[in-house]
Amino acid sequence: MTDGISLDSDWNGLFIDGKWTDSESGETIAVEDPSTRESFAYVPRGTEADVDAAYEAASAAQSEWAATPPAQREEVIHSLLEAIDENHETIVELLAHEAGGSRMMGETSVHLAEDQAAEAATLPRRMKGTHVASNIPGKENIVEREPAGVVTVISPWNFPLNLSMRAVAPAIAAGNTVVLKPSTNTPITGGLLFAKLFEAAGLPDGVLNVVTGRGSEIGDRVASHPESNVVAFTGSTPVGRRVASLAAENLATPAMELGGNNAHIVTEDADLDNAIDAAVFGSFVHQGQVCISINRHLVHESIYDEYVERLVERAEAIPVGSAHDPNTVVGPIIDESQRDEMLEYVEETVEAGATLETGGSTVEIDGVVDSLVVAPTVLSDVTNDMSAACFEHFGPIAPVIPFSDIDEAVELANDTEYGLSGSVHAGGVGAGKEIADRLDTGMVHVNDQPINDEAHVPFSGTNASGMGGYNTEEFLNEITETKWVSLQHEPREYPF
Ligand code: NAP
Repeated sequence: MTDGISLDSDWNGLFIDGKWTDSESGETIAVEDPSTRESFAYVPRGTEADVDAAYEAASAAQSEWAATPPAQREEVIHSLLEAIDENHETIVELLAHEAGGSRMMGETSVHLAEDQAAEAATLPRRMKGTHVASNIPGKENIVEREPAGVVTVISPWNFPLNLSMRAVAPAIAAGNTVVLKPSTNTPITGGLLFAKLFEAAGLPDGVLNVVTGRGSEIGDRVASHPESNVVAFTGSTPVGRRVASLAAENLATPAMELGGNNAHIVTEDADLDNAIDAAVFGSFVHQGQVCISINRHLVHESIYDEYVERLVERAEAIPVGSAHDPNTVVGPIIDESQRDEMLEYVEETVEAGATLETGGSTVEIDGVVDSLVVAPTVLSDVTNDMSAACFEHFGPIAPVIPFSDIDEAVELANDTEYGLSGSVHAGGVGAGKEIADRLDTGMVHVNDQPINDEAHVPFSGTNASGMGGYNTEEFLNEITETKWVSLQHEPREYPF
């Protein structure tokens, strides 16, 4: 069914109106494997003219797709699920090559993508309108729910498959057409792979259009395109602010999921074994490159030394290396600029008085000295204003900050412009829930770590972490509009 999807497929084409086309520029962008630092594929360097062509196709296809019966739209998503299943191994392999994802990250991504698509498949039957009583005699009020039109999806590189899937699949299931612009670091697993999978699933031409290219060159045109009705963006807060303002100027709905600075709070009466297990996973999985990773550990002063000691022991035992080694847990950072930025945060934090307990530098892998693998890092004696704590470090870095009472812990946790996720380990779930209720975040997990995503549960952030939400009716509301149709069954009496 999906013969032709492999690492060695020809990825050098834009997918517009159901056809693989060359970019107007005729130029390509190399896709680098962060483990080997070698290019393994080339994708088109899209231009604004390519973007315009994608929107033209999406716009032309929209009304027919919206009128397609729900069961047919559902069937396409079921076929998508089959295509994902058939290509499971290739997708894991692509995520390792393109995103530096370990086997665990790849498997988790595929599993979550299936969950997201399965949830999306239910949307065509869940798009319900209502009847509302009228104050006007003889009038019937019908509130219909309709697809918004053309949905723009802009996704980042860290979990490319899922951060594209969570917007693309529901938008299409709900009767919208889509223009997808993936990150330049992950143009395949965040973009062109979707074209191949949906093509295999029998999606009509023009319903999904994928344009690769640099955000700095085509991003503004994508975010502000007059044919776009919704801009579903996942990425950093600075870029998100710009994208949201361009969308709003165009009166398109901005659905924004942005950065985070998530706290892992551990009180003096917490179960330390569980708190440490959660801490290790929440800080180091996928090299800490998750918007909902633990960015700061807030630990009661009475258990602080033991916590740091145990965290260091566990960090030093984590297998690090190439994403292609099935034993690797911490693999490479996506690129040099991300790696250098996080190492700078560590350096600044140490200069400001923190102690580097372990890590803080790159690790040689497979003979590559200047590798992108950063050793799991633990910093103690950290305060909230130090670089590794106040910035989203997006790395395998665990800054540990002491607190003396619960009020201080809550104050420290909330002392950030972000409000994405968090976690709490206290004496019991009741005590944990009390603290969780005081955290100004869109998500918080008691006796766990902050990285959780279930396609049937709302996912959203507050403050500088975004606006709008993903998953469930939260996202359905973003990608649909209500339409009030009233039927006047008897002649109406007007005042003049
Ligand atoms: P980013 O630099 O903001 O880029 C995100 C996307 O925006 C990429 O596709 C990028 O394209 C594109 N872009 C860049 N400039 C643009 C412009 N002017 N107009 C329109 N699009 C533009 O973020 P990232 O570094 O890829 O991802 C990491 C960030 O994402 C972190 O801050 C993380 O917290 C956040 N994130 C949030 C969530 C969440 O659910 N809240 C989930 C995952 C990640 P190019 O790659 O071509 O530049």
